[in-house]
Amino acid sequence: MKITNLEVYELKIPFSIGIKSSSADFLKQDGMDFCVIKIETDNGFTGWGDAFSFNCRRAVSEVILNMVKPHLIGKNPLDVQNINFELQKKLHLFGRYGITMFAISGVDIALWDIVAKNSNLPLCNVLGSAGIKKIPAYASLWRYENKEAVKDRCSSAKNLGYNYIKLHEVFTSEVRAARETLGEEIPVMVDTNCPWTKDEARQILNSWEEFNLYWVEEPINPPEDFESLSNIRSESLIPLAAGENACTSFEFKKMFEAEAVDYAQPSVTKVGGITEFNKVVSISQTYGVQVMPHSPYFGPGFLATLHLAQSMPNPGLLERFFIDLEAYLYPEDIFTPKDGFFKINGGIGLGYEPDVNVLKDYIVK
Ligand SMILES: [Mg+2]
Repeated sequence: MKITNLEVYELKIPFSIGIKSSSADFLKQDGMDFCVIKIETDNGFTGWGDAFSFNCRRAVSEVILNMVKPHLIGKNPLDVQNINFELQKKLHLFGRYGITMFAISGVDIALWDIVAKNSNLPLCNVLGSAGIKKIPAYASLWRYENKEAVKDRCSSAKNLGYNYIKLHEVFTSEVRAARETLGEEIPVMVDTNCPWTKDEARQILNSWEEFNLYWVEEPINPPEDFESLSNIRSESLIPLAAGENACTSFEFKKMFEAEAVDYAQPSVTKVGGITEFNKVVSISQTYGVQVMPHSPYFGPGFLATLHLAQSMPNPGLLERFFIDLEAYLYPEDIFTPKDGFFKINGGIGLGYEPDVNVLKDYIVK
């Protein structure tokens, strides 16, 4: 089998955050960006992947087409682990984390889709799982910087059956509003997206101990300052999570050696695809750290994460970005947990093919 073609569909799909907010520049997006990758083979298989592309869609697409694709044409997709290794080796000087690795990640997901389709099995089966687990979901809220909006969205998520809710807030007033709205029975996480120095983080985490948070995510800038994270962690009662900005399993190893986190958050569209995500899961087990997949996605990356979660002995909680897209690449109920849990459908490969009308209607030229 040989790879004969690779195409990138650059999409921008408008979305609703449910309620007006003052922090419209959170993620600075006027639509959800996608780099959807289609890889075709000489014997008729098609694999789908996606590369992280929030606010960097065109750049990622150019890397895929100009720097990755030339290394892929003619290769056997069943050699995915070796292809990933060779791409990382050939492209290392262009950034071990960031746009180059996003591109490699998307391609890796599409290759694994082909590997599973060639076996006529769901991807999770190929990854060593029967695929029958119920994966607990968490609602991952937009950043509103508005107490009333946070209360509204927390109530909405709770009413939809989510048993865990994550905020993207940095001010105490919104964290308090969430806890007051949800009571003590719903675990609350707070993702801060790397805003603080070590000293600032120490002070704020001290003041947040009263909220009994399930975790605080990425309190320190820069994200790879594992020594500072480790110091904060040793001083705080609040568990820490990080990893969506970590580059490959090598950086996770450093994170674990520094005892920097309670929860590790590899992101399949950023970390190096399914191949690298699986390595992170392996070393997380060795170091006794729970993986909580980062997955605010609505494309092949979300499906890949569902299959990976099936293959993890302890799948942790799976992130559902709590926004509503104008259109979905897959049936919307895939992204809608039932009674707080995700399941998979048993379809071959990633389990679904993207809607060709959505690919056509939301393409960015
Ligand atoms: Mg995060």
